[in-house]
Amino acid sequence: MLKVKCPFKQCNCSIISYNEKENQPINLPLSVYDDYKLLLKNKDTKATGKFLIVGNIWDFDNIGVSKTLSFFENKDDNMSKLEFVNPIDNKRYNITQIFKYLICSDCEKGPLGIICKAKLLNDENSTVIELNLLSLDSIDLC
Ligand SMILES: [Zn+2]
Repeated sequence: MLKVKCPFKQCNCSIISYNEKENQPINLPLSVYDDYKLLLKNKDTKATGKFLIVGNIWDFDNIGVSKTLSFFENKDDNMSKLEFVNPIDNKRYNITQIFKYLICSDCEKGPLGIICKAKLLNDENSTVIELNLLSLDSIDLC
């Protein structure tokens, strides 16, 4: 079991526990950090693009959620790059909308992740799922 904590030492708020064998992180292109101004743990952190899918917002021990980001609604051009393989069904998805940020619930620093809509690729039914994605480069693991 790994524990995810807020990267700010003064805060160190517990965010979520997860089993790395059961919950494999997904890989997003590294451009996501710059494009969406995601926090990196510290200035020496090299981004890996690893994000943890958290199916239900209530699975977090503590998490803050930003207001809806209307700014990103029409950024379809950038979104086309944000493809990933979902380890739950082993299928390819494309993030079509990022509409909220995940932030620390105690100190409100972040963004530590995103809440987004992702479209299943090559799917006749145009299935869209909503995902909470926690950036593993933005937090402390112990
Ligand atoms: Zn914090």
